[in-house]
Amino acid sequence: MTLLSYQHRVLQTGSLPLRPGARLQRVPHACTATLIWPDDAVPTPENSVVTDPCFTGEGFVEASAVLRELGVGFDVLGSYFETHQHGDHMLSFPSLDTPYPERRFQPGSDGPLAGVSAVHCPGHSPDLHALVFRSGNDEVWIASDAIIDEEWLRAWRYYWPNGYSDEEIVETWRSVGRILARAHVVVPGHGPPLRVTARLLEELAKSFEQALFTELCPEVGEQIRRRLASDASLPADA
Ligand SMILES: [Zn+2]
Repeated sequence: MTLLSYQHRVLQTGSLPLRPGARLQRVPHACTATLIWPDDAVPTPENSVVTDPCFTGEGFVEASAVLRELGVGFDVLGSYFETHQHGDHMLSFPSLDTPYPERRFQPGSDGPLAGVSAVHCPGHSPDLHALVFRSGNDEVWIASDAIIDEEWLRAWRYYWPNGYSDEEIVETWRSVGRILARAHVVVPGHGPPLRVTARLLEELAKSFEQALFTELCPEVGEQIRRRLASDASLPADA
């Protein structure tokens, strides 16, 4: 049996105005939208899925350019997957002239996307599911807001309008641990993809000790250290 392998391209690079320490930066509020399709094919409506297709005006322009580069148009978007039911990740196009993807992607079904599975990553939202697939030797995680972006990950601090309960923050760290135990590439909810390296994990293993509520989920630090000790496929640095 050959292992199913997929390509992915970010159609809209997400960003978020709110930064650690409640600083604000002048960037749009947009989620990261990603197209996934099999390695040995060009994307078609039948063999591809777009994640979190909540396009802003600027994001739509970016997505148009990426699709053009791939030699396809918006009509290639046949099915979509919303990682969680927050308004900034749900199907939305800035123009009504473009055909919407019509089918919701069902992970676990047969067909060209059979190798793409969903993994529950609650905390940010109780219903959050990441999409996980192989890409060559890499395991790619479309993590969405389980990891908001790299700066957020390195800060180990919840700074999104802090309505989160202690339990939700602990759940979030557990989801981060689940992702970092396996991912080679993480596509976060509001930033560009990041590569998981030994250096990144070493820094995160250290900084995790300063995070809130780590005493309630010591297994997260343990997972990171175990991967560092055992995974020979980790690149030293990006
Ligand atoms: Zn979000």
